[in-house]
Amino acid sequence: MAQHENLSVVLYKKHDLRLEKRPVPEPGPKEVLLKIDSVGICGSDVHYWQNGGIGDFVLKQPMVLGHEASGTVLKVGSGVQHLQAGDRVAIEPGIPREIDEYCRTGRYNLSPTIFFSATPPDDGNLCRYNTHDASYCYKLPESVSFEEGALIEPLSVAIHACRRGGVTIGSKVFILGAGPIGLVNLLVSKAMGASQIVICDLSPNRLEKAKQMGASVTVTVERSVGAKELGQKVKQALGGAMPDISIECTGAEFCVQAGVFATKSGGVLVLVGMGKSSTNIPVLDLIIREIDIRAVFRYCNTWPVAVDMLASKKIDVKPLVTHRFPLEEALEAFETTKKGVGIKVMLKCDPNNQDP
Ligand code: NAD
Ligand code: ZN
Repeated sequence: MAQHENLSVVLYKKHDLRLEKRPVPEPGPKEVLLKIDSVGICGSDVHYWQNGGIGDFVLKQPMVLGHEASGTVLKVGSGVQHLQAGDRVAIEPGIPREIDEYCRTGRYNLSPTIFFSATPPDDGNLCRYNTHDASYCYKLPESVSFEEGALIEPLSVAIHACRRGGVTIGSKVFILGAGPIGLVNLLVSKAMGASQIVICDLSPNRLEKAKQMGASVTVTVERSVGAKELGQKVKQALGGAMPDISIECTGAEFCVQAGVFATKSGGVLVLVGMGKSSTNIPVLDLIIREIDIRAVFRYCNTWPVAVDMLASKKIDVKPLVTHRFPLEEALEAFETTKKGVGIKVMLKCDPNNQDP
């Protein structure tokens, strides 16, 4: 491998995304060097490109994008025991830097000093070669493809959301939004035993996909409908019952409100979607009916479970991938994602392997 053949997708500043060759990094003692295979484009990658930041995370120096990735181990650091060259792995992008109280209690996603691929200033994986902490690389069995491995990242958001919501056998679940995140919540709710899953969106195309992926009922949201009215429609869709758990995956204020109205008294509303920094919620309805709101920030302790679910074919994430581009066409891939056509756009980073 030539020293500078590491083609990388680098965001310089808002609206300034470039493909450039960077040096191939050397793994540290606890790291592995990876040949990256598949990287999914996430809404946040597009958001950084279009806005230069998300909340307090502001781009101040060029950053490699991409955090939904899988690849092959090329080299291991001197202290790495559990991996060897040739292993295929899925990459968890969040690596705690300190063993602080969050790390000790197992909620390392909340650690304020966590490293996170493609969150400023930390570089992501949208390149041909990258190093990563070996403890956050998970071996994939032969039966799990590289793209499935990359999709463990969004799948993890759903595993964490469904755990936080308490989805279990017989749960009635309402999912707001049928984008990639809504759809993975659909898959995980089903796998965790939900008996009925209603999903809503503005887009009939996305709802069609949700139907194919196992939604019991879909509800098309008309712009003219009120939040309370949407709650009523969901009740009708469930034959008069109300959902035990609602999972908000749009970030739209309207959907947060509809999530409150739709949820059964004593139930849980999980907030995954990230929209405005402040949102009006119908707090009286929430109090009188004792609805718990639980927030979700990324995930923790999800990769091992996800690998097992994919290997045992309990979850099929493959229908999420609607577009593929070679890494050289990354800018076109980003334009495609921005347009919102399809569901998940995959970048194929290994010129010798463009297979799923
Ligand atoms: P997406 O934009 O592809 O999908 C959102 C869907 O919501 C779209 O299909 C859209 O049509 C639908 N929608 C928007 N407004 C609506 C409305 N008023 N009524 C009904 N449907 C509506 O996004 P995604 O990639 O699926 O991500 C969903 C959300 O989850 C985003 O806000 C994203 O930032 C957030 N997210 C949060 C975390 C976390 O850690 N909390 C992690 C990943 C993504
Ligand atoms: Zn993401």
